[in-house]
Amino acid sequence: MIDLAEIHRDFQVGDQIVHALDDVNLRVASGEYLSIMGPSGSGKSTLLNVLGLLDRPTCGKYVLDSRETTDLTDDELAHTRARKIGFIFQSFHLVPRLTAFENVELPLILAGVSPSERKPRVQRLLESLSLTDRAHHVPNQLSGGQRQRVAIARAMVMEPAVLLADEPTGNLDHKSGADVLAAIEGLNSQGITLIVVTHDAEVSQRARRNVRMRDGRIVEDVTRPHPNPPPQAGEGNEGRNKPTLAREGREGAS
Ligand code: ADP
Ligand code: MG
Repeated sequence: MIDLAEIHRDFQVGDQIVHALDDVNLRVASGEYLSIMGPSGSGKSTLLNVLGLLDRPTCGKYVLDSRETTDLTDDELAHTRARKIGFIFQSFHLVPRLTAFENVELPLILAGVSPSERKPRVQRLLESLSLTDRAHHVPNQLSGGQRQRVAIARAMVMEPAVLLADEPTGNLDHKSGADVLAAIEGLNSQGITLIVVTHDAEVSQRARRNVRMRDGRIVEDVTRPHPNPPPQAGEGNEGRNKPTLAREGREGAS
């Protein structure tokens, strides 16, 4: 699914060069759930931006879905990103003037999906994230947890194969953070490849595979042999597999 080879990303800051990514090699199989931890400034966001085709590496190879991406034009990158990748951020990045519904609808409009097709897709997603009664609220009328769930819905509306989350619970209280994690983990259990950058060791340990970065390099990459045990009936995990999104049309979308 994802194959990064010898990736470097340098930034020129004044007369200095910052090696934000310094020879990163990473392979991620379809359907994996991976966390990335590391101190501030270690290159986590830069790595996620490269993975999400929001940024280009200075050098190295990035193959996504059997396709080399480093020689794509900007238009091809944008097209690939829109169809294959969902992104959620610590600070949500919703459009403040638009309602929850309109924020989720936006990628569909940009992709030229007809209004009659857009409405049920947006409604279904909002419902799956328990946001139906917030559909016509603008972001500043929503709690942090609700905003992040809107952001998840927006990230999912194009039915991407990969969901990238940069500190998705960083601005949330514990309960809202848990709801957001349950929502994205539910998507992973339905097959989406999930990569979560986090400061929080507890969040990190929920993923089966844990990558640690330092100074732009991957210094640890551990996959535990057994995933988290499946939830037992009556253990209070009934929210774990929400939301249940219909996956029809996914093949057609990619
Ligand atoms: P993290 O997300 O782990 O905190 P980042 O990927 O944001 O780290 O940053 C890694 C390094 O690259 C830091 O030293 C940061 O200052 C630098 N950096 C990131 N983005 C830029 C940029 N656009 N311009 C200059 N330096 C940058
Ligand atoms: Mg960061």
